[in-house]
Amino acid sequence: MSKVRVIKTVSELQNYRSQLTGQVGFVPTMGALHHGHEKLLQASLKTCDHTILSIFVNPTQFNDAKDFEKYPVTWEDDLKIAEKNQISAIFYPKYQELYPDHYTYKISETEFSKLLCGATRPGHFDGVLTVVMKLFQIVKPDLVFFGEKDFQQLTLIEGLVKAFFLPIQIIPVTTERESSGLALSSRNTRLSPEGKLQAAKIYQTLMQKLSLDDIRKQLETAGFSIDYLTEYKGRRYIAAFLEGVRLIDNVNIP
Ligand code: AMP
Repeated sequence: MSKVRVIKTVSELQNYRSQLTGQVGFVPTMGALHHGHEKLLQASLKTCDHTILSIFVNPTQFNDAKDFEKYPVTWEDDLKIAEKNQISAIFYPKYQELYPDHYTYKISETEFSKLLCGATRPGHFDGVLTVVMKLFQIVKPDLVFFGEKDFQQLTLIEGLVKAFFLPIQIIPVTTERESSGLALSSRNTRLSPEGKLQAAKIYQTLMQKLSLDDIRKQLETAGFSIDYLTEYKGRRYIAAFLEGVRLIDNVNIP
């Protein structure tokens, strides 16, 4: 396995970037990498000359301090995955590097970001869009890979690129799932083995030709607490809690 360059400061990343020629692919993540993240990395490796991964658990997108504290951190394993995939570099900054302004400057979207995840996590998408804009300005990627698992986030970032005329192409990547159908997520590591089996019911139920009321009833009976369950522009979206872990998923309406 080859050593991956780990870059911790904005100035070093900018210096590194200025020496790259050809297409630069970028995969922003919060770490605790799994096969879903690997799918994004592989899509970039296939199409781009260089692939930069960022790992940063962005505090400004957590509306719940406890959720932020509990977010899994698995740096050693993440590094192994990066090395196995032979990516070019990892950007691994600290808060101070990305937020010298202490989050006094923000990017906001005022419509879609207020629905779905935005309705129950106020400020979440301000944090997402702000950190993504910062990362785009520093990394200056040609292509950026985002998962459909976070479909609302993907849509809002596509909107951001359009609104600010960013010279970036956003590439959506389909959701990687366990054989049970459970969407891979860094948060799944916080579920018990039984919880993980149970969590697959989200996707299994979402994929049935049932009314939203029936889906809600089935999932509540199975022990989930539903944050939201909605259909919006041809997709069915859900956020539900199980064992105190917030899980999200979305599918084309069956
Ligand atoms: P995260 O580290 O959870 O913020 O996710 C970083 C990126 O990986 C985002 O673009 C996510 O949509 C994407 N991602 C997370 N889980 C999956 C998955 N199961 N399949 C595909 N992409 C994913």
